[in-house]
Amino acid sequence: MSEGVYRRVVPAGTEIFTEGDLGDFAYIVERGQVEISVGTGEVKHALAVLGPGELFGELAALDGFSRSANAIALTETELILISQEQIRHRINSGDEIVALLLRSVLRSYRGDRRNITGWAETGEAPPEAFASGPDRHRRAVAKLTLENELQAALARNEFELAFQPIVFLKGHVELAGFEALIRWNSPLRGRVGPDQFIKLAEEAGLIVPIGRWVIGSAIRNFAEFQRAFGGMRDLFIAINVTKHYLREAAFLDNLAEHVASQSLKPQQIKMEITESVLIDDHEGAIAWISRCKELGFRVSIDDFGTGYSSLGYLHRLPVDELKIDKSFVETMLKEERSMAVVRAIVGLAHGLELGIVAEGIETEEEAAALKALGVTYGQGFAFAKPLRAEQVMRYIHGDAPKTRSVG
Ligand code: C2E
Ligand code: MG
Ligand code: MG
Repeated sequence: MSEGVYRRVVPAGTEIFTEGDLGDFAYIVERGQVEISVGTGEVKHALAVLGPGELFGELAALDGFSRSANAIALTETELILISQEQIRHRINSGDEIVALLLRSVLRSYRGDRRNITGWAETGEAPPEAFASGPDRHRRAVAKLTLENELQAALARNEFELAFQPIVFLKGHVELAGFEALIRWNSPLRGRVGPDQFIKLAEEAGLIVPIGRWVIGSAIRNFAEFQRAFGGMRDLFIAINVTKHYLREAAFLDNLAEHVASQSLKPQQIKMEITESVLIDDHEGAIAWISRCKELGFRVSIDDFGTGYSSLGYLHRLPVDELKIDKSFVETMLKEERSMAVVRAIVGLAHGLELGIVAEGIETEEEAAALKALGVTYGQGFAFAKPLRAEQVMRYIHGDAPKTRSVG
């Protein structure tokens, strides 16, 4: 018997519970047969006969009201017991929107049942179904509202891409490419950054349509930037990917079509996949990265060093580049331990013959230190903030600190 899971064998004729009992457990029939009925004494109406694999008694275990039916073993029966605590723990640690919906369904269902069975007259105080404190309720409602607005945002075209320049860390700063970063111009909330809505968009199943919009828009804008920049050098565009794109076979083909239709080269496209995605869905990520390579795209591991993953996987992944997370760049000149991490990542990248980008560079000193370590590309407020498309055009046409010295 494992912890938290109970089993019970009951002989034929056992009353497992009767109407009005406390709903302490839900049950799964492992072996045997159980009859569910309503009514008391001689007047009982059978509702169902359940067999192996079937679940019963979950309603009272869920909401804490007493039983609204009877359960009797018709044969010797083996039951798996699921305690009320097990169920509540799951609900309370799960999605608060699901909990809100469940609570609401249970309430209306119980309302009906109590009218039918006359329970409302028992004077029983309605027990609290599961933790539904005002904070949790408010959070669930706020989440639903935001989700709803996000859905509308797609239809109303409220998303916008910002493009942050990425430069070569050479003697002189030279533009190498851009990272596309999504923004939401919400009529109610103002300009909202991705940290505030990407996770929810993922939960709500909106990330794939948003991702489709991102690639279309990023490629169209980038093609204009490249045309404005001219033919002296191929720039690149980096696009952020979440784990939800990995299982979308059409996503990369769709991207390849956009790239071809704008006469760009696939090597100009960099897909940024975070280290956490690699850990969550390792097999999916390997297949996806391989497909990127077949199509000619480059692949970077974003936020490298924050995923606490084993390094064992790295040499097997056909990636092109590591992107040092900004949390290390931010602290590397203040904390020796951060500097040690940065050095180790750079050494790893060099050893595996991978390119290396440092993000979140805010000062000349950080840029100089990273350059001295042999980092290829830099990105951060020290060079440019994320820019709107029209600002990028100005940047390319001369306002850019293209010739500023980097130590
Ligand atoms: P990320 O891919 O690591 O992007 C870098 C983040 O660092 C961006 O934040 C950027 O604005 C910020 N940043 C750049 N330079 C500096 C600097 O010098 N100092 C500091 N403190 N920050 C800097 P942002 O735009 O808020 O994006 C946050 C995250 O949202 C991104 O992290 C990325 O994971 C995600 N994201 C952004 N756009 C998209 C998108 O189109 N699709 C998906 N799936 N995720 C996106
Ligand atoms: Mg990124
Ligand atoms: Mg990053």
